[in-house]
Amino acid sequence: MANLKLHHIYKVYPNGVKAVNDFNIDINDNEFIVFVGPSGCGKSTTLRMIAGLEEISSGDLFIDDKLVNDLEPKDRDIAFVFQNYALYPHMTVYDNMAYGLKNRKMPKDEIAKKVLAAAEMLDIKEYLDRLPKEMSGGQRQRVALGRALVRDPKVFLLDEPLSNLDAKLRTQMRSEITKLHNKIKTTFIYVTHDQVEAMTMGTRIVVMKDGYIQQIDSPMALYNKPINKFVAGFIGTPQMNFYNVKLLKEKDNIILAFDEENKLSISYLDVAKLDHSYFNQEVTIGIRPEHVILSSNGLPATVTLIEQLGTESIVYADIKLTDKIVSITLKVPFDYPIKLNDEIKVSFDTAHLHIFDKETTQSILIDIPTQYEITTTITNNTISLFNQTIKLPKCLNFDDGEYKLIIPSTSLTKGNDLSLLIDNKEENIIRVKHNDYYYHFKTNETKYSLQFEKLTIIKDDKIIHNPINDEIELLGYIRKEGKGKNTNYFFEIENDKLNPDYDKIQKVALTDGIDCHKHQYIFKTNINNLIISNEGIKASIIKELNYNDTIYLEVLINDKTYHIKKTTDITTNEIYLSLDFNKTSIVNPNTNIIVA
Ligand code: ADP
Repeated sequence: MANLKLHHIYKVYPNGVKAVNDFNIDINDNEFIVFVGPSGCGKSTTLRMIAGLEEISSGDLFIDDKLVNDLEPKDRDIAFVFQNYALYPHMTVYDNMAYGLKNRKMPKDEIAKKVLAAAEMLDIKEYLDRLPKEMSGGQRQRVALGRALVRDPKVFLLDEPLSNLDAKLRTQMRSEITKLHNKIKTTFIYVTHDQVEAMTMGTRIVVMKDGYIQQIDSPMALYNKPINKFVAGFIGTPQMNFYNVKLLKEKDNIILAFDEENKLSISYLDVAKLDHSYFNQEVTIGIRPEHVILSSNGLPATVTLIEQLGTESIVYADIKLTDKIVSITLKVPFDYPIKLNDEIKVSFDTAHLHIFDKETTQSILIDIPTQYEITTTITNNTISLFNQTIKLPKCLNFDDGEYKLIIPSTSLTKGNDLSLLIDNKEENIIRVKHNDYYYHFKTNETKYSLQFEKLTIIKDDKIIHNPINDEIELLGYIRKEGKGKNTNYFFEIENDKLNPDYDKIQKVALTDGIDCHKHQYIFKTNINNLIISNEGIKASIIKELNYNDTIYLEVLINDKTYHIKKTTDITTNEIYLSLDFNKTSIVNPNTNIIVA
């Protein structure tokens, strides 16, 4: 039993292949985690790094909260089951299972107890005297599992253990392994390229592509809320149908326009969370075969193939658009009267419609937009917004006129300045309707103020107010002075010397080696971690900005402008800032890898 933490794990092979990039996951005790993705996406590399069979290029691996990056595989208390079972051909099943324990000099009777218990659990007790060649593939895989099981490992790692088995056996072993997990209550990490295996076995699934995690979620969440087109297409059989359509908004209706002639109308409420900038643009829509419905006001299509699966049939059909034919896959009940060349009309169950940005392929429906653009007027330093007027904060002073605001959906804070007619409430999210459009904001409050410091304000296409940036990036070095016993390390940030965090320096040195003293690093932190202090990074105050709830200082650090929060009274223009290194990431700008 163990929990695992993988923090910013990278693997760069000596030949330069970046096999795994910034892999992050916290795995709880007793979870069944599946890594899934196409061949070459970095699944095995990640598993092998956990096992200790492959060196971690950068990042931290914790097992039971202990950093194990440099621990030998044998000391990690992990069992590894491979695709090729790697049994000793000249040893009996019993000896194969007992081998590791004998090597560890475990007393004979204890070994016998463990082997028998494992054999019983895996239903191979009657084969203990056989040689591997006298057994079937499935039985051999059970022996391989048994060999791992007798070691009572904290973590079970399984790398495509079933891919050598035929389809029937694979299904059977799949449920055997799930049962085994339920019985022994140990953390399992399972690698497969087969999405059905992933969906049926995992409590949580990590979908990977090209060395990057795409999404970590439960099987149902992956199916219902895929984060991008790749995950949407990878999970589910037959594959989701994808189309590029224009999204036309007409009051409370949205038209999915395949072209000038072929259109489907849906309710704006079905896609209320869409970023308004997608209206009248092309997007990619996705609909699973089980969510395509036959409806008299659907698009005409011709049936080209029917696969009868017994309980249901999979129907393939062609939709004839003005200048091309697109295909659609749908599922119908097994007894549905449908035959080849039938003319049908297809529509979508819009509660299950997926929409993706055509360029980035990210889903644009599962989360609320990050920001809204609203054109409004300012009069006497009050602004009209959501059917009311709000006073501008003290530090803002604008001429009367028309302005464009970019309002982040996280810019509501606790206060009494804004009264909103809430149209719908989800956990942490409120929906407001204003002028035919829905607006969503993330907030836990029930009374609201607008954080003007988060807004971009534009007049005549010129930005006249930039939001205050919460993320701060400072440039610096890891320096060393003195020699031998008297070596002293420190951080030099924006030309100022700062006391080091030795853990961080050690991590940087472990990743970048001796080179770490030679080049610059980026120190990334949040505005709240840069605090006015007696020593540290020197800054000179340009001005004070009073945004009602929070007062900021605009400061110059090494000739660059930054904003910090004013947390104490200040008497001089020169101040010093301390940086909380615990909450700061150090990034190598050449590799873009977070090294500590
Ligand atoms: P998966 O398990 O998802 O199929 P791998 O983790 O085996 O993927 O491989 C990820 C990438 O790393 C691939 O591009 C692969 O070619 C490369 N790779 C794997 N092992 C090595 C190695 N020992 N040396 C160099 N490149 C490797």
